[in-house]
Amino acid sequence: YAKAHGKRRCVCFSPEILGERARELKLVELLRASIENDFDGFSLCYQPQIDTNSGTVTGAEALARFQCEEFGAVSPVEFIPLLEKTGLIIPMGKWVLWTAATQCKNWMAIDGDFVMSVNLSYRQIDSDSLVPFIEDTLQETGLPAKNLVIEMTESYFASDEDPVRTVFDQIRSLGVRVAMDDFGTGYSALGMLKKSPADIVKIDRMFVTDVQASTFDATFIKFVVELCHDVGIEVCLEGVETDGEYAAVSAMGLDYIQGFLFGRPYPPDEFRRRFLP
Ligand code: C2E
Ligand code: MG
Ligand code: MG
Ligand code: MG
Repeated sequence: YAKAHGKRRCVCFSPEILGERARELKLVELLRASIENDFDGFSLCYQPQIDTNSGTVTGAEALARFQCEEFGAVSPVEFIPLLEKTGLIIPMGKWVLWTAATQCKNWMAIDGDFVMSVNLSYRQIDSDSLVPFIEDTLQETGLPAKNLVIEMTESYFASDEDPVRTVFDQIRSLGVRVAMDDFGTGYSALGMLKKSPADIVKIDRMFVTDVQASTFDATFIKFVVELCHDVGIEVCLEGVETDGEYAAVSAMGLDYIQGFLFGRPYPPDEFRRRFLP
């Protein structure tokens, strides 16, 4: 445990840490059991993405949820890293993609242009079976590639490792778009956008939080939009919660907005009722 948290730090085994560790072990056990039991306890919620030009819902981001008797609803911020650590993200990530693709195909009967965004973990990139699985999923669900977006955290785009870039290129050559998630939180330079294999950049919500007070944050968003548009990348802003925030960014030329102001992540039935005609 101490090692994983940096060599210099001394970690004492306080009751608190033991409690955390016990919860983690129990949770991993429950996650594993759920996966083995046909993903019982897992579900997907869908958050609307708004096209700023038309002002309409253009699609949704699929967000994983986990519910169990012991701990109630557990946040993906907690369980996704555990799935990554244990390798369980491989089967679970496939389930997410399959479920979201099926849902998208279903909603396309109502809105033929509906686009589904699905998060991908770096651990899935490592797996040889990823690209064939995406291809099979499209084929078997009947979802056209252009209606799918794969979201991946910013830092993996910065990687100079060829295998990572190759996978992005392969995904894109299927016709699936790739989005760079949480942009601005990592260590990557803006300059990498020029050679980036991304179709969409999603600016992290930390830039929206202070957009009204901070000249830096407002300038950052405008600058990223300009730079991305120059090289043909679309831009989505995440985390718009208030009318004031929306007013501050509405003239910045963003392509998409995603945030609680327009809608939270909802279970499929509720998403359909709220956002589809
Ligand atoms: P993300 O991909 O950046 O997803 C956006 C997160 O921001 C979601 O949190 C969403 O509920 C939240 N959000 C959206 N708009 C607002 C807003 O206006 N205000 C605030 N305060 N929050 C907003 P969520 O659902 O808790 O997911 C957290 C993270 O967990 C995701 O961040 C993603 O990195 C990861 N995650 C979720 N589902 C999956 C999955 O199926 N696979 C993988 N690999 N990761 C997932
Ligand atoms: Mg549309
Ligand atoms: Mg995302
Ligand atoms: Mg994000």
